[in-house]
Order: sequence, then C-alpha cells, then structure tokens
Amino acid sequence: MGKHIGAQTKRVIILGSTGSIGAQTLQVIEHLNTLADQGESGTRFEIVGLAAGSNHRQLIKQANALGVRDLALACADNPLDQSGFNFRIGSDAPRRLIEEVPCDLVVGAIVGIAGLDSVLCALELGIDVALANKETLVAAGALVIETARKSGASLLPVDSEHAGVWQCLCAMTPEPYAPPMPAPGCIERVVLTASGGSFGTQSRDEIMHAKLADALNHPNWSMGAKVTIDSATLMNKALELIEAHWLFGLDADQLGAVIHPQSIVHALVECADGSVIAQLGAPDMKAPIQHALDWPTRSQACADRLDIAKLGTLDFQEIDPDRFPAINLAMSAIRAEGSAGAILNAANERAVEHFIAGQLPFGQIDHCVASVLAELSIEPINTLADVYAADARARECVDQRCPSKAGGMR
Ligand code: MG
Repeated sequence: MGKHIGAQTKRVIILGSTGSIGAQTLQVIEHLNTLADQGESGTRFEIVGLAAGSNHRQLIKQANALGVRDLALACADNPLDQSGFNFRIGSDAPRRLIEEVPCDLVVGAIVGIAGLDSVLCALELGIDVALANKETLVAAGALVIETARKSGASLLPVDSEHAGVWQCLCAMTPEPYAPPMPAPGCIERVVLTASGGSFGTQSRDEIMHAKLADALNHPNWSMGAKVTIDSATLMNKALELIEAHWLFGLDADQLGAVIHPQSIVHALVECADGSVIAQLGAPDMKAPIQHALDWPTRSQACADRLDIAKLGTLDFQEIDPDRFPAINLAMSAIRAEGSAGAILNAANERAVEHFIAGQLPFGQIDHCVASVLAELSIEPINTLADVYAADARARECVDQRCPSKAGGMR
C-alpha cells in the first residue's frame, strides 16, 4: 500500500453512538485515524457530532473522550448537566444536529423507526449516509431512495449482507458503485445468508416459550437486543430482503435467502451467465463499518481476518417456510409495496417489545406480525406522515393482540 501524504479530513456525525454499531464505529475510526497518522490511509475522520437515545452518561463519556461538543439526546428523563456541550434534546434532536453541524458523512445507527427522520434529513441535504438502520428502508424505502436520488447522496450499506452485495457489485462495475444506483442489468439474483439465529435447528414447539436470555444468545454475531431477537425469528432476514429490494433496485423474484450457520459468506450475487460472485469475511461488524467509511478505498483491516482452511466446511440449507414464516411475509410486502413494509416493520418492533416485556411468547412474534399484515389495508406512501400513520396503526393492532395487563396473553 502506498504512503499517503496530507490525508483529507472527513467530518462525521454518528447517530446511535452508544449502541453496538455506534461503539464499533468509534473503534473503526480510531483504527483508520491511526493508519492516517502513519501515512497508511488517505482519510482522517473528525467526529463532529454524536446522538444517543437515552444513555446520556455514555454519550457524555464518549464526547469527553473524543472532544466532541455537539450532541443530541432523544429522551432525557432527568435534568442534565449540559455544561461544556452544545446539547439538543428531544425526538427531533438527531435531525437538528444534522441541520446545524456541517459534516461529510452521517453514520445512521439508531435502532428502529426512530432512525428514519434523521437519515432522511441527511439525504435531503445531500450528505452520504453509512446506513446501519435497516428499518429506515423497510418502512420508507420509496421516500428514502427518491430523496437520495434527488440530492445525489450515496447510501453506503453497513448491514453485513448488504455490504456483501455492495462489494460484489463494486467488483462488477468499472466506476465506483454505491446505492441508490440500481444494480447492473446483468444481475439475475441476489441471495442473502442467514445464520439461523440463537435457536439453530430447534423446532417451533421447542422455542415457543423460549426465554429472553436464550433469544439474546447469538452464536456468531455480537449485536443489540432487537436485531438478535429478529435473527432468531429470521425477521431480521425478512427486513434485510426488503432492504435489499430498495438499496439495489431488485424485485422479489430476484431476491432470496439461505441458512448458512457459519456466517462467513454474507451474500451471493448471480449473474445472467450463471456465474455466482460471493463475499466472504469473518462475522465481525467492524468489517462492513470500515468498508462503508473507507469506500472507495481499502485500508488495513480492523476486524478479524478469515482463515478459510481452519473453517474446513461451509454449510448451506434451504429455509423452511413453516418454521420461519417471516421470509414469505417479506416477499409479500415487497410485492404489495405502499405501506406494507412500514406495517411489517412496526408490527415486528412492537411484538419484540412485548416479548422483551414478557407479554408475548417468543413463538408468537412472527404470527402476530403476519396477522397484523393480513388485517390492515395497504395504503400508498407519499410522505413521512403516511409512514408514521401506518406505523402507528400497526403498533395499535399489536397492542390489541397482547394487552399489557397481567395475564393478557393470547
Ligand atoms: Mg445483517
């Protein structure tokens, strides 16, 4: 690798800095800045803003360690000591942070629909977004993609499977490629891999009343609670199929998923001539984070490296649609368009909250989402208000199915 003289500076705002992806992004940035200091990377990252949900202690700790003054906190339960910082507080705080603090890249790592507004704001301003929040695209893909196309901003996938697809497509295009540019026309099919989650090959009956701690025990990936539970229902893969539909401009017939317990192959891209290009890597989120930050260049790895000989075998299995109904729900939502994605996403978020609170059995999460999707009518999505309306209807519908009062499970 050639030496870089006079590294360029990229100003970054990290939304969701206290979460799992946020913390790993800080590690990757520290690593890349060390490389820049040594002349091994051409980009130095300056963190100019941090946003968190409610963990103000961790946010302030990060801000002090990094010398960041501009902060956003979505919910503050108690009065805060704001001295020394420029604090924004409230649900629109991440949006105001982006509007008020100039930056070159936003890392969108807020979990759930709460991350939509700020990602959309960055794209409206023409700022590239390294996107870890899949719910943004699932709930409002049409709006998000249209906004990025209009402003010319790029959507750099951080979700490992989409980072995999992106890297396969980069290898096929002569110019630097990034969504929302549609995938090249020679692409027949994209297959995402799913680890199968915390419950591996156990039957539906065996996992019907699985405990929260068991659902959170993922064999390969270290992630936040929501995505780990989504991995166990394969709802995570369902959301990712919808995410891939929007990111790469592929329809439902061009998308698929397969169980791959080792999580080494992240995505496979099949071309018209039958050739399949796959992306492999250790199951470490720091790798896709680094790719999104460093693109279109590639610096020395921060993540673990792959030792393919040590692995010996890679296994792939078809997904049983009876055990994992989430996958077919995703395909229907892609075909239905309109508010179907927003409904699926909100019903799932709410059902997972009820599971975490002990009010919905684990084995009912996906069935609950399916029944909400079947009950609600699909409306067109033209504005953010349409997304929030569909989201609210779906949550209400879940609450009716599992009232939060004791003994209210059905
Ligand atoms: Mg993923």
